[in-house]
Parts: sequence; C-alpha cells; structure tokens
Amino acid sequence: MELPETLLNVIDQLSKIPGVGDKTATRQTLILAKWSTEDLNSFGDAMKNLANLKACIDCGMYSDNDQCEICSDSERKKDQSICVVENVTDCLAIERSGNYSGLYHILGGVLNPLMGVGPEELKIDSFIKRVRSLDVSNVILAVNPSVEGDATCSYIKQVLPDNIEVDRIGFGIPMGGSLEYLDTMTIAKALENKKKM
Ligand SMILES: [Zn+2]
Repeated sequence: MELPETLLNVIDQLSKIPGVGDKTATRQTLILAKWSTEDLNSFGDAMKNLANLKACIDCGMYSDNDQCEICSDSERKKDQSICVVENVTDCLAIERSGNYSGLYHILGGVLNPLMGVGPEELKIDSFIKRVRSLDVSNVILAVNPSVEGDATCSYIKQVLPDNIEVDRIGFGIPMGGSLEYLDTMTIAKALENKKKM
C-alpha cells in the first residue's frame, strides 16, 4: 500500500532534517496528520518565517532585526569585552551559564585552509574593527580545542592590537568527570590550564 502523496511530501521534507530517518519522519507525519488546521497553519507559518531570519550585522548571531538583542543592549557594552565563539550553539551555552555579560563575535567556524575557510569567511576583519570602535579591553577566545581551533586562536591573538588582553577559556575535566575515563588530550589540556588554589 502506498501512502497518499500529501503524506509522502511531508515525510520527504521531515527526513531532510539531520538525524531524522524515514521511519521517524513517517511516524511524525502521521502524528501531524491529526493536528487541527489552526495548528498546522501556525507550524507552516513558523517554517516559512525562518526564511526571513537575519544575522546580526555586528556579531553574526541570529536575529529578527539588523542588530541582535545582545548587541543592542547598552549594558553589555559596559564590560568592554567580546567573547569569540565558533557557532550560535556555543554562544547559547555561554549565555546559559550566566557567567558572562559582555558581547560576542560568532565566527561561524574555524580557520581551515584545506576547506577554503580563511579569515574573510570568519569575518575577522569586521571583528577587529569592532574591537577598536567599541573600545574593547578584553577578548575571550571560547573556541573549542582542536588543531584548527588552536590555529584560529593564535591568528586572532596575532591580529588584535597589542593593548588588548586576550584570554582563552580553560578546557579540562568536566564537572563530575573522572580522570580514569578521560582521553589523554583532555587530561593534558586540563594540566595545561591549571590554576593556583
Ligand atoms: Zn549581535
């Protein structure tokens, strides 16, 4: 038995979502088929509106306006610091921690010459301009530890004006973690980032 075209179309669209296989897409589509017209319309509208999503002209965060909520908040400029992250989810993770009240720069990746990702792709030029124009005194590099991440941090440190304090966040043993189960790289990084008690 073949399902009607209307259902097949939805299954086809849902299975484009990473991590959603054919079976899950079919199950979810059959659930959606029971929704009211009103709920289906708002679901469809929300998807359609995604096409209008903007990126903040200053930091690169997703935004409904030209400038995101964080960049347009004058309180967050008072910290005189910019935290550099690889992507939006890293920015959200730091925001969730509640320990940071400055601005962000979202790179959208890390330097990777083999994949054609250079300083222009990561908008490092506009980041440096922003550091100067906002009178930033401290840059925090919250880039994940990897060969490319380390190279990206070294590059940024090199192109920033000398009077800016540049810190890289420490990586190491996760809370509740046990040394026994960690890989050697994590332990090495943890030792490297040790702090005085
Ligand atoms: Zn912004």
